[in-house]
Amino acid sequence: MKYDFCIIGAGLAGLSLAKELSSLSNTKILVIDPLGIGKGASGSPIGLANPATGRYATKSWKAEESLNLLEENLEKVSSFSTEKIFSKSGIVRPAMDSKIAKRMKENVETSDWSDGSCKWLSEKELHNNFPDLFCIDGGVWVPSGMTVAIPKYLDALASYLKVSGVDFIEGINFDLRKSNNAWFLDLKSTNEIEANHIVITAGIKSTRYDFWKDLPLHPVKGQVAVFKTEQKFPYRSAISALGYFAGIDPYTFVAGSTYEHKFANEETDRKGLAYIEDRMLRVMPHMEGKYKLIQQWAGVRASTPDRKPFAGDHPHIEGCSILAGLGSKGLLYSSLLAKEFAHYLLEGTAISPEVSLNRFN
Ligand SMILES: Cc1cc2nc3c(=O)[nH]c(=O)nc-3n(C[C@H](O)[C@H](O)[C@H](O)COP(=O)(O)OP(=O)(O)OC[C@H]3O[C@@H](n4cnc5c(N)ncnc54)[C@H](O)[C@@H]3O)c2cc1C
Repeated sequence: MKYDFCIIGAGLAGLSLAKELSSLSNTKILVIDPLGIGKGASGSPIGLANPATGRYATKSWKAEESLNLLEENLEKVSSFSTEKIFSKSGIVRPAMDSKIAKRMKENVETSDWSDGSCKWLSEKELHNNFPDLFCIDGGVWVPSGMTVAIPKYLDALASYLKVSGVDFIEGINFDLRKSNNAWFLDLKSTNEIEANHIVITAGIKSTRYDFWKDLPLHPVKGQVAVFKTEQKFPYRSAISALGYFAGIDPYTFVAGSTYEHKFANEETDRKGLAYIEDRMLRVMPHMEGKYKLIQQWAGVRASTPDRKPFAGDHPHIEGCSILAGLGSKGLLYSSLLAKEFAHYLLEGTAISPEVSLNRFN
């Protein structure tokens, strides 16, 4: 089989790019993943699309555009899932001390948020809406924030792409080589695949491809825990403070995550669980003794020196590009980044300098 584009890696980056390329052109596209769809960092059971990021709720890169485009994609593929894949029930960010509260409030008031998309709540207002949540001096309310069941989103997106004519190969190893201006993927079990252009979207595994081994990617392991409650989880909105806490259904919620810069393996462990529980009970002290662990999950984020993702071409190898470094905001950035990159690949339009690979020389 011969393809125009072969996308290597079926996480948020790879599938979002396939979606944009296929809706903008008639090109023949293959998505291939040696492990399978969402087997990397994108396997987190829940992710927040939170545009007020970091400790002080700083407005993220192209916040409104990223959120709007993600929501459009979520809505577009929702009918390909029998389950609910997202909820637009907002995100609350209670301040954990008065210094944080002051910086958060300043940030919200001085950033150019579009009307009502992010606002400061006094301690009283926060407690009226979110009883029993710990906070000092108030917090930030992001009504446009979304909670997304990322694996369900990716499954729905893959089904949508298959119907749109994108081919998938999952769970098969391959050898990659370039010859006479074309790329060849030797899968051993089936015929050889030929592609004009490859795009590596392999998250932290991108540097395993020799020609991308010098990328400025830093691994950050993250663990989350899924808990069951006997009484309803009290908040419909997601909570982002000392991590994040968000309901999957009325009696199940996810708590995360760790940020491990040094780790010996990619598995979950007791230390990770203890860290998550400690932080969870500082934010929701009333949950003490009211939850039961049902699952743990771990993944490795690919972080960059300036904590922004990158997209671009290989400086020396023709027909070889990359979209990676989505760090801890991959869900939020995925749709807009993929759209900008698809336009670049098809029409040569510029990639925003903040997310261009060129910024690393
Ligand atoms: C615990 C945790 C919580 C998170 N929460 C949020 C959140 O709330 N909000 C948010 O916006 N973001 C969140 N993120 C970040 C987000 O999940 C990532 O930024 C995003 O999933 C990265 O997507 P990706 O497609 O670049 O990489 P990945 O999802 O890692 O996908 C890479 C794919 O490449 C494949 N692959 C290709 N080649 C190879 C090879 N040679 N070897 C091995 N694998 C290969 C892998 O199988 C994998 O499927 C979280 C991440 C973690 C770990």
